[in-house]
Amino acid sequence: MTYVPFPISEATAITFAGPPPSEADVVVIGGGVIGVCTALFLAEAGKRVVLLEKGRIAGEQSSRNWGWIRQQGRDPDEIAMLTEAKKIWRDLAARTNVDIGLTQGGTTYLAHSEDEMERYRTWLSIAQGQGVDSQMLNAAQISELIPNIQGAHVGGIHTPSDMRAEPWVAVPALAGIAARAGAKIVENCAVRSLDMVAGRVAGVVTEAGTIKASEVVLAGGAWSSLFLRNMGVALPQLSIRATVAATQPLPVVQMGGVADKNLAFRPRADGGYSLAAGRFIEMFVGPDAFRSLPNYMSQLLSDPFGVRFKPFAPKGYPDAWGTPRSWSPDQASPFEAMRVLNPEPNKKKVADLAVRFEAMFPHLGPVQIKSAWAGMIDTMPDIVPVMDRVAALPGLTVGTGFSGHGFGIGPAAGRILAALATGGEVGHDLNRFRLGRFSDGSAMRLGPAI
Ligand SMILES: Cc1cc2nc3c(=O)[nH]c(=O)nc-3n(C[C@H](O)[C@H](O)[C@H](O)COP(=O)(O)OP(=O)(O)OC[C@H]3O[C@@H](n4cnc5c(N)ncnc54)[C@H](O)[C@@H]3O)c2cc1C
Repeated sequence: MTYVPFPISEATAITFAGPPPSEADVVVIGGGVIGVCTALFLAEAGKRVVLLEKGRIAGEQSSRNWGWIRQQGRDPDEIAMLTEAKKIWRDLAARTNVDIGLTQGGTTYLAHSEDEMERYRTWLSIAQGQGVDSQMLNAAQISELIPNIQGAHVGGIHTPSDMRAEPWVAVPALAGIAARAGAKIVENCAVRSLDMVAGRVAGVVTEAGTIKASEVVLAGGAWSSLFLRNMGVALPQLSIRATVAATQPLPVVQMGGVADKNLAFRPRADGGYSLAAGRFIEMFVGPDAFRSLPNYMSQLLSDPFGVRFKPFAPKGYPDAWGTPRSWSPDQASPFEAMRVLNPEPNKKKVADLAVRFEAMFPHLGPVQIKSAWAGMIDTMPDIVPVMDRVAALPGLTVGTGFSGHGFGIGPAAGRILAALATGGEVGHDLNRFRLGRFSDGSAMRLGPAI
């Protein structure tokens, strides 16, 4: 088995070079799917928008994810956003001559027990009211949908309208659309801090100088909490490592994404499968993990053995022990010290995924892994993101903590954040996603555990 460097890394050529302009209407921090889509909608609304990325567009989570665009299993308050996102994905795919691999293959979750079936039914009873096309399947229907599958599956849930795309192609392609719409994108340009004047956002201080702007959107993924902490705002966001393995090309076993409690897979455009284990997550423990522990108690208690703890994050990670928590704007920040967060995949897990896939589809024969990678997922205590204005920093909007499902929802989140930053029509109830929910005494409501 060989481990190739991930396709988007510091070695990737810069597509969007600086220098950045000295003034804009809105600055967007972070060139993942959320920042890119926000910049796109702002540019289309006629705003002078600058998108600043410390490394490469989609270098972090936004190219490392599984590529699932799924409504299935989403929080009730996100379902309508996913309906919107699916529509925007289709529109955007038609606006680029790059094949982003957008495919409606559906999502299927398999159940091994009646308990799991009951959890799916409960979710479906809530989601059906919002017009999703999900349906419960019995064991025979699973075998019909996924011929040759082995395993003691008692049934499952299936959503035919769910889609997928190839993230490492899709997000750079969306950046291309944003740039053509007028967004100024600059890679290799870290934002060190906000420029505050008279208690209000007046712009950002970057490693390449100051940019004046009365509105800033922070879409910094795993780095958002560190950025906000330096500005005096607490956000209980942590990062977890998730490993993905890519097989060599294999015959088609199913057109969509399929997951059970041990294995998730989906076909890729190159004929192979991406394999992962949705419930295998690893957390490097650092100061933020200790600080945020009270916020995460509900999540930990709901699945006490769900997280594998690792004692130290590698040097330069957002929650590494040695990472500075505060700095001044004229000092180099932790953001320029780590251009692209590129964690090592868990090699043991990669081997295990191949074995599990072979066991699920023995007729395929030995499964060869051609590459593997990992990403740091930015997660929140209740597994839903923050999309809000930051009251303590007037002029700042934050969109972060997408907790492992920001790729699919990204285009809708971008439209919403652009509206929030410009006083436009948000079109959804954002109460569930407010920043203050972790400090205003609200009870913790976990997103669905399916
Ligand atoms: C292995 C894995 C599987 C996943 N599977 C799925 C899936 O199937 N479906 C799905 O919907 N989601 C999935 N996700 C989650 C999804 O990838 C993320 O929710 C989404 O990409 C988050 O986008 P983002 O723009 O918020 O963050 P990111 O993509 O992490 O982008 C944030 C960017 O901000 C930049 N940045 C940070 N701070 C600064 C600064 N100060 N200055 C300049 N730039 C800065 C970073 O360099 C980074 O590029 C998965 C994630 C992983 C890791």
